[in-house]
Amino acid sequence: MPHLLILAQPVPPRALEALGAPVEQRTIETPYGQAGPFARRQQHDGLGVWILPYFGGPSRTDPRATIWAAKSLGVQRIIAWDSVVGLDADLGRGDIILPSDYIDWTKHQPSTFFESTGAGYIQQNPPFCTDITKALSHHLPAARPTVYLGGEGPRRETAAEVHMFRLWGAQVRGLNLVPEVYLAKELELCFAAIGVVTALGADRAETQPGGEVREADQTILRALPAIFAGLPAPLRCGCDHLQAGPRQRGILTEDWRTWG
Ligand SMILES: [Zn+2]
Repeated sequence: MPHLLILAQPVPPRALEALGAPVEQRTIETPYGQAGPFARRQQHDGLGVWILPYFGGPSRTDPRATIWAAKSLGVQRIIAWDSVVGLDADLGRGDIILPSDYIDWTKHQPSTFFESTGAGYIQQNPPFCTDITKALSHHLPAARPTVYLGGEGPRRETAAEVHMFRLWGAQVRGLNLVPEVYLAKELELCFAAIGVVTALGADRAETQPGGEVREADQTILRALPAIFAGLPAPLRCGCDHLQAGPRQRGILTEDWRTWG
Protein backbone atom coordinates (compact mmCIF):
# COMPACT_ATOMS: atom_id res chain seq x y z
CA MET A 1 0.00 0.00 0.00
CA PRO A 2 1.50 3.36 -0.97
CA HIS A 3 1.79 6.13 1.62
CA LEU A 4 0.70 9.74 1.23
CA LEU A 5 2.69 12.87 1.98
CA ILE A 6 0.51 15.98 2.25
CA LEU A 7 2.96 18.74 1.52
CA ALA A 8 1.92 22.12 2.87
CA GLN A 9 5.48 23.35 3.07
CA PRO A 10 6.69 24.40 -0.38
CA VAL A 11 9.80 22.44 -1.36
CA PRO A 12 11.20 22.12 -4.89
CA PRO A 13 10.31 18.82 -6.68
CA ARG A 14 14.04 18.15 -7.01
CA ALA A 15 14.22 17.92 -3.20
CA LEU A 16 11.75 15.01 -3.27
CA GLU A 17 14.00 12.77 -5.36
CA ALA A 18 15.03 10.82 -2.25
CA LEU A 19 11.47 9.43 -2.19
CA GLY A 20 11.95 7.93 -5.65
CA ALA A 21 11.34 8.87 -9.25
CA PRO A 22 7.91 10.24 -10.32
CA VAL A 23 5.96 7.41 -11.97
CA GLU A 24 2.32 8.44 -12.03
CA GLN A 25 -0.04 11.39 -11.59
CA ARG A 26 -3.73 11.19 -10.68
CA THR A 27 -6.63 13.56 -10.08
CA ILE A 28 -9.47 11.94 -8.17
CA GLU A 29 -13.21 12.62 -8.39
CA THR A 30 -14.95 12.30 -5.03
CA PRO A 31 -18.48 13.06 -3.75
CA TYR A 32 -16.92 16.27 -2.32
CA GLY A 33 -15.29 17.51 -5.51
CA GLN A 34 -12.02 16.92 -7.26
CA ALA A 35 -8.76 16.32 -5.39
CA GLY A 36 -5.24 16.37 -6.71
CA PRO A 37 -3.16 16.07 -8.74
CA PHE A 38 -1.45 13.45 -6.61
CA ALA A 39 2.01 12.47 -7.89
CA ARG A 40 3.41 9.06 -7.00
CA ARG A 41 7.11 8.52 -6.47
CA GLN A 42 8.55 5.06 -6.38
CA GLN A 43 11.84 3.60 -5.19
CA HIS A 44 12.55 0.21 -6.75
CA ASP A 45 12.22 -1.63 -3.45
CA GLY A 46 9.70 0.66 -1.76
CA LEU A 47 5.93 0.88 -1.46
CA GLY A 48 5.71 4.21 -3.22
CA VAL A 49 4.61 7.57 -1.85
CA TRP A 50 1.84 9.76 -3.21
CA ILE A 51 2.64 13.44 -2.82
CA LEU A 52 -0.06 16.10 -2.66
CA PRO A 53 0.94 19.78 -2.61
CA TYR A 54 -1.48 21.39 -0.15
CA PHE A 55 -2.31 24.88 0.99
CA GLY A 56 -4.85 25.95 3.57
CA GLY A 57 -7.41 28.68 3.31
CA PRO A 58 -11.17 28.83 2.93
CA SER A 59 -11.11 28.42 -0.86
CA ARG A 60 -8.98 25.27 -0.84
CA THR A 61 -10.16 21.79 -1.82
CA ASP A 62 -12.82 20.42 0.53
CA PRO A 63 -10.71 18.50 3.09
CA ARG A 64 -13.18 15.62 2.76
CA ALA A 65 -12.24 15.31 -0.92
CA THR A 66 -8.56 15.06 0.03
CA ILE A 67 -9.05 12.28 2.56
CA TRP A 68 -11.62 10.45 0.43
CA ALA A 69 -9.21 10.53 -2.51
CA ALA A 70 -6.43 9.15 -0.31
CA LYS A 71 -8.68 6.26 0.69
CA SER A 72 -9.59 5.53 -2.91
CA LEU A 73 -5.90 5.51 -3.90
CA GLY A 74 -5.40 2.65 -1.45
CA VAL A 75 -3.41 4.76 1.02
CA GLN A 76 -3.43 3.69 4.68
CA ARG A 77 -0.85 6.06 6.15
CA ILE A 78 -0.71 9.82 5.75
CA ILE A 79 2.04 12.14 6.89
CA ALA A 80 1.21 15.84 6.63
CA TRP A 81 4.05 18.34 6.58
CA ASP A 82 2.87 21.79 7.61
CA SER A 83 4.45 25.19 8.11
CA VAL A 84 3.30 26.74 11.37
CA VAL A 85 3.31 29.95 13.39
CA GLY A 86 5.19 29.61 16.69
CA LEU A 87 2.88 30.81 19.48
CA ASP A 88 5.17 29.70 22.32
CA ALA A 89 7.86 32.24 23.19
CA ASP A 90 10.42 29.38 23.11
CA LEU A 91 9.74 28.54 19.48
CA GLY A 92 11.84 30.20 16.80
CA ARG A 93 11.97 30.09 13.01
CA GLY A 94 13.23 26.77 11.74
CA ASP A 95 12.22 24.77 14.83
CA ILE A 96 10.72 21.39 13.95
CA ILE A 97 7.54 20.45 15.79
CA LEU A 98 5.64 17.20 16.18
CA PRO A 99 1.92 17.77 16.82
CA SER A 100 0.87 15.64 19.80
CA ASP A 101 -2.65 17.01 20.18
CA TYR A 102 -4.81 19.61 18.48
CA ILE A 103 -7.48 22.28 19.02
CA ASP A 104 -10.05 22.77 16.25
CA TRP A 105 -10.46 26.50 15.61
CA THR A 106 -11.93 26.09 12.14
CA LYS A 107 -15.42 26.85 10.91
CA HIS A 108 -15.65 24.21 8.16
CA GLN A 109 -19.26 23.08 8.01
CA PRO A 110 -19.92 20.27 7.75
CA SER A 111 -16.62 18.62 8.49
CA THR A 112 -17.59 15.00 8.79
CA PHE A 113 -18.27 12.14 6.41
CA PHE A 114 -21.21 11.15 8.60
CA GLU A 115 -23.55 13.94 7.48
CA SER A 116 -26.19 11.58 6.14
CA THR A 117 -25.95 8.91 8.83
CA GLY A 118 -25.88 11.05 11.97
CA ALA A 119 -23.01 8.95 13.29
CA GLY A 120 -19.47 10.15 13.77
CA TYR A 121 -18.86 10.09 17.51
CA ILE A 122 -15.26 9.19 16.87
CA GLN A 123 -12.93 9.16 19.85
CA GLN A 124 -9.99 11.50 19.38
CA ASN A 125 -7.57 9.88 21.80
CA PRO A 126 -4.86 9.41 20.68
CA PRO A 127 -5.32 12.36 18.30
CA PHE A 128 -2.52 11.37 15.89
CA CYS A 129 -1.48 7.91 14.68
CA THR A 130 0.92 6.40 17.23
CA ASP A 131 2.86 4.29 14.68
CA ILE A 132 3.75 7.29 12.54
CA THR A 133 4.34 9.64 15.48
CA LYS A 134 6.82 7.12 16.94
CA ALA A 135 8.66 6.88 13.62
CA LEU A 136 8.75 10.68 13.25
CA SER A 137 10.16 11.23 16.74
CA HIS A 138 12.69 8.43 16.27
CA HIS A 139 14.08 9.82 13.01
CA LEU A 140 13.67 13.50 13.94
CA PRO A 141 14.75 13.54 17.59
CA ALA A 142 14.89 17.36 17.68
CA ALA A 143 11.18 17.62 16.77
CA ARG A 144 9.35 19.08 19.74
CA PRO A 145 5.95 17.64 20.74
CA THR A 146 3.44 20.50 20.62
CA VAL A 147 -0.25 21.24 20.84
CA TYR A 148 -1.39 22.40 17.40
CA LEU A 149 -4.17 24.91 16.87
CA GLY A 150 -5.87 24.38 13.52
CA GLY A 151 -7.15 27.65 12.06
CA GLU A 152 -8.40 28.65 8.64
CA GLY A 153 -6.69 31.79 7.55
CA PRO A 154 -5.77 33.28 5.23
CA ARG A 155 -5.46 36.15 7.69
CA ARG A 156 -2.86 35.89 10.41
CA GLU A 157 -3.80 35.75 14.09
CA THR A 158 -3.90 38.91 16.22
CA ALA A 159 -1.71 39.40 19.29
CA ALA A 160 -4.83 39.08 21.48
CA GLU A 161 -5.62 35.76 19.81
CA VAL A 162 -2.07 34.55 20.42
CA HIS A 163 -2.58 35.22 24.15
CA MET A 164 -5.90 33.40 24.09
CA PHE A 165 -4.51 30.42 22.15
CA ARG A 166 -1.62 30.17 24.62
CA LEU A 167 -4.04 30.18 27.56
CA TRP A 168 -5.77 27.25 25.88
CA GLY A 169 -2.46 25.38 25.77
CA ALA A 170 -1.77 25.81 22.04
CA GLN A 171 1.90 26.16 21.11
CA VAL A 172 1.68 26.49 17.33
CA ARG A 173 -0.97 27.50 14.81
CA GLY A 174 -1.36 26.09 11.30
CA LEU A 175 -3.93 25.79 8.51
CA ASN A 176 -3.52 22.32 7.07
CA LEU A 177 -4.02 19.59 9.67
CA VAL A 178 -7.56 20.23 10.92
CA PRO A 179 -10.13 18.87 10.03
CA GLU A 180 -7.98 16.44 7.98
CA VAL A 181 -6.73 14.67 11.12
CA TYR A 182 -10.20 13.63 12.26
CA LEU A 183 -11.58 13.04 8.77
CA ALA A 184 -8.77 10.49 8.37
CA LYS A 185 -9.97 8.78 11.55
CA GLU A 186 -13.47 8.56 10.11
CA LEU A 187 -12.09 6.65 7.11
CA GLU A 188 -9.90 4.50 9.39
CA LEU A 189 -6.68 5.95 8.01
CA CYS A 190 -3.45 6.69 9.88
CA PHE A 191 -2.62 10.40 10.06
CA ALA A 192 0.29 12.16 11.76
CA ALA A 193 2.21 15.32 11.06
CA ILE A 194 5.42 17.24 11.24
CA GLY A 195 5.81 21.01 11.12
CA VAL A 196 8.39 23.71 10.67
CA VAL A 197 8.02 27.08 12.39
CA THR A 198 8.16 29.65 9.58
CA ALA A 199 6.73 32.68 11.42
CA LEU A 200 6.34 33.96 14.98
CA GLY A 201 3.07 34.81 16.73
CA ALA A 202 1.73 38.33 16.23
CA ASP A 203 2.86 39.44 19.71
CA ARG A 204 6.52 38.97 18.77
CA ALA A 205 8.68 40.79 16.24
CA GLU A 206 9.75 38.57 13.32
CA THR A 207 13.42 37.63 13.33
CA GLN A 208 15.61 38.11 10.27
CA PRO A 209 15.52 34.95 8.07
CA GLY A 210 18.92 33.28 8.04
CA GLY A 211 18.34 30.03 6.18
CA GLU A 212 17.07 28.17 9.27
CA VAL A 213 13.78 27.14 7.62
CA ARG A 214 15.62 25.67 4.62
CA GLU A 215 17.91 23.81 7.02
CA ALA A 216 14.90 22.35 8.85
CA ASP A 217 13.34 21.37 5.50
CA GLN A 218 16.52 19.55 4.53
CA THR A 219 16.61 17.71 7.86
CA ILE A 220 13.04 16.49 7.28
CA LEU A 221 13.69 15.58 3.64
CA ARG A 222 16.71 13.50 4.63
CA ALA A 223 14.66 11.65 7.26
CA LEU A 224 11.48 11.01 5.23
CA PRO A 225 12.59 7.90 3.28
CA ALA A 226 13.64 6.12 6.49
CA ILE A 227 10.44 7.24 8.24
CA PHE A 228 8.23 5.78 5.51
CA ALA A 229 10.34 2.62 5.18
CA GLY A 230 10.39 2.01 8.93
CA LEU A 231 6.63 2.07 9.57
CA PRO A 232 5.62 -1.23 11.16
CA ALA A 233 3.64 -3.71 9.07
CA PRO A 234 1.07 -4.83 10.03
CA LEU A 235 -0.20 -1.74 11.83
CA ARG A 236 0.18 -1.62 15.61
CA CYS A 237 -1.71 1.66 16.04
CA GLY A 238 -5.23 0.35 15.47
CA CYS A 239 -6.21 3.29 13.22
CA ASP A 240 -7.70 0.85 10.72
CA HIS A 241 -10.40 -0.02 13.22
CA LEU A 242 -13.01 2.72 13.59
CA GLN A 243 -12.84 4.15 17.11
CA ALA A 244 -16.56 4.73 17.42
CA GLY A 245 -19.21 3.12 19.57
CA PRO A 246 -20.50 -0.29 18.45
CA ARG A 247 -23.59 1.26 16.81
CA GLN A 248 -21.51 3.46 14.50
CA ARG A 249 -19.07 0.77 13.46
CA GLY A 250 -19.40 -0.25 9.86
CA ILE A 251 -21.66 2.62 8.80
CA LEU A 252 -18.93 4.34 6.88
CA THR A 253 -17.82 1.12 5.27
CA GLU A 254 -21.36 0.82 3.87
CA ASP A 255 -21.26 4.39 2.55
CA TRP A 256 -17.93 3.60 0.98
CA ARG A 257 -19.31 0.52 -0.82
CA THR A 258 -22.29 2.47 -2.16
CA TRP A 259 -20.00 5.09 -3.65
CA GLY A 260 -17.60 2.51 -5.14
ZN1 LIG B 1 -2.16 4.49 12.58
